Amino acid sequence: MSGPPAGGEYPELRATLLAALDDRAPRVDRDRVAACYDFAAESHHGQARESGEPYVSHAVSVCLILLDLLDARLDTPTACAALLHDVVEDTPVTIEDVAKRFGKEVSGLVDGLTKISGLHFDRQEAAQAENFRRMLISMARDLRVIFIKLADRLHNMRTIQYLRADKQERISAETRDIYAPLAHRLGMAGIKRELEDLSLKVLDEPAYIDISRRIQARREEREAFLASVRERLEEGLRAAGVRAEVRGRPKHFYSIYNKLQAGRDFESIYDLFGLRIIAHTRNDCYRALGVAHDLFTPVADRFKDYIATPKGNMYQSLHTTVLTPQGEMVEIQIRTRDMHRTAETGIAAHYVYKQGGHLDEELDAKLGGFVAQTADWQRTATDDEYMDYLRTALYQEEVFVYTPRRELKRLAKGATPLDFAFLIHTEVGQHAVGARINGELVPLRYQLRSGDTVEIITSPHAQPHEDWLQMVRTAGARSKIRHWLRLRRHDDSVALGREMLERELKRVKHHATDAELEEEARRLGFSDLDQMFARIAEGQLSVVQVVRKLLPEKEGFAERLAKGPLEALGIGRRPTGGVRIQGIDNVMLSFARCCQPVPGDRVIGIVTVGRGVSVHRQDCPNTFGSRTPAERRVAVEWDTRAGETFPVRLVVYGHDRTSLLADIAKAIATTQVNIRTAGMAAEDRTARGVFVVEVPHLAKLQEVIAAIRRVSGVSRVERRQRMLRAQGEPRRASGDE
Ligand code: MN
Repeated sequence: MSGPPAGGEYPELRATLLAALDDRAPRVDRDRVAACYDFAAESHHGQARESGEPYVSHAVSVCLILLDLLDARLDTPTACAALLHDVVEDTPVTIEDVAKRFGKEVSGLVDGLTKISGLHFDRQEAAQAENFRRMLISMARDLRVIFIKLADRLHNMRTIQYLRADKQERISAETRDIYAPLAHRLGMAGIKRELEDLSLKVLDEPAYIDISRRIQARREEREAFLASVRERLEEGLRAAGVRAEVRGRPKHFYSIYNKLQAGRDFESIYDLFGLRIIAHTRNDCYRALGVAHDLFTPVADRFKDYIATPKGNMYQSLHTTVLTPQGEMVEIQIRTRDMHRTAETGIAAHYVYKQGGHLDEELDAKLGGFVAQTADWQRTATDDEYMDYLRTALYQEEVFVYTPRRELKRLAKGATPLDFAFLIHTEVGQHAVGARINGELVPLRYQLRSGDTVEIITSPHAQPHEDWLQMVRTAGARSKIRHWLRLRRHDDSVALGREMLERELKRVKHHATDAELEEEARRLGFSDLDQMFARIAEGQLSVVQVVRKLLPEKEGFAERLAKGPLEALGIGRRPTGGVRIQGIDNVMLSFARCCQPVPGDRVIGIVTVGRGVSVHRQDCPNTFGSRTPAERRVAVEWDTRAGETFPVRLVVYGHDRTSLLADIAKAIATTQVNIRTAGMAAEDRTARGVFVVEVPHLAKLQEVIAAIRRVSGVSRVERRQRMLRAQGEPRRASGDE
């Protein structure tokens, strides 16, 4: 390759880069970096990003992101590799060219990046697992490769809007599934947050927009409130002599999104957004906590001390939630500036360059053994074992297992062979009876571990069971099992519904072909016969309705009804005195409460769905006269036994006077009729009394009414008649309730 033209391409870009490095990373060898820039600019000459910018601007952006991440700790090889990271992949330049010009260290980094770029992890496709593995291995051989890769991905995500929709989606899914979790494991919360939010914007834009709108809507109010809390805290800290400043906290869309997905409501998530106190020293952190707990009421169980016990990714902070006097909750995080940098940039905050790209021991210790173990594994383990270790170290919420053909599958932690079976294929899941893990038989509820090789044993006779819902961990398997169970329930319902209908048809001695039934189903509004059977079984359609429609009209429903045993109509056996339905006496009967018929009244039976026959007075409005189809009207006749009485509610109106109630009661008593309840209320000299009397027949009732009418002051006596509300309850012969 020929040398760069004097002054280099895009001199402004070049100047910006060098100025930033001079300013913030004075240790960097600016001549070497400038040479790398010129080489990259020339190599990418004529190439443009989808945004229209010259390609080399991407390389510069990646380098500047690394500067943000590492600050003064950015080293020369890292800066050089960042500028050259795409030349081998996207231009005719070879890795040997890079090595010759810029040395083995830089070319080693570029080589690592070239190997992992363009390799996509697709959680569905086993072939991609190998790419994923290579990426992880090369990454851990030198952490700088992953720093550059994350910076590269971050810049690509920041400019993703220029790509085609399908590319946007693939890259965003990969970012969410691989790079954001990786950044998280390395403690790089700032990059993780941005990667997640940018990928959410692509993968679920409506949700993203919705969250941003809702935040906007609440912002002013919430921020005014937080400002007042902040002021009080600042005052308190000052008064206590604690060296600390109070800040707001960035909103993390993706975490709000996840909480919304988990069913929490926006208000409760948003209201927790709180403040951060950056204190001078560790001691100041604890004192600041004391101030906060003094000023406000701490919420029990919400205090966490990650300073004394750092998280696995080195995160340190005090967390507490306090309650303001107005009853609002505020979450407060307290940390030192160093802890804050660690929280935002994680492993990068502790990265110190040493010759050869190895990390120092101080960092090893701070990483809680992560790098030490990694390095150890790297020296002693085979690639496969090493890979197993990385999987568990980096993806603690997940397990990676192999199929017998060594395809890598990813499942949620706690997943069982059953989850795995459904992931492989629905059919495999449905017929699973057991599993072999690494060759050993295990039950389906065994908990999978990373590295397991899983073989599912199936049987054609096996089928899903309700218990399985408790055995699976993944949403996919659970929904497939539910679906199957629903289908089976449907099949069972169809069979049961058919049986019920056929039994009833047999009882009324009617034969119907499937074609006739099918026709009937359509008349009733069902798409097919099975749907009608299912409805019958579920109790949403009464067999009576169907049978009634099927019977030839000329024979008349009532006649049919009279011939067959009445259970045939879904009416239970319940001997009731008082009335007969044309000679049949084992019908479930009830006397309508709306009109309270008594023997002597002209009555009619109305067939009700599932509740037998309800006996009404013929003039009762609740029989709905001619609007009730003829088949539902049943002729009934009184058939009383000696001593039976029927309750009737009488409403008495009159002029209020002393002892009116007593006089009416006395009058009723003269007719030898029992009074079940009596009550009277007067308003404005008008009295209204309600009496429930028990009479054997209509003649006696008329006698009672006449007796009441004769009482002085009574102007009117009425048999109560009201619109039917609920069901008429079966009549009770005697009235002591
Ligand atoms: Mn790139």
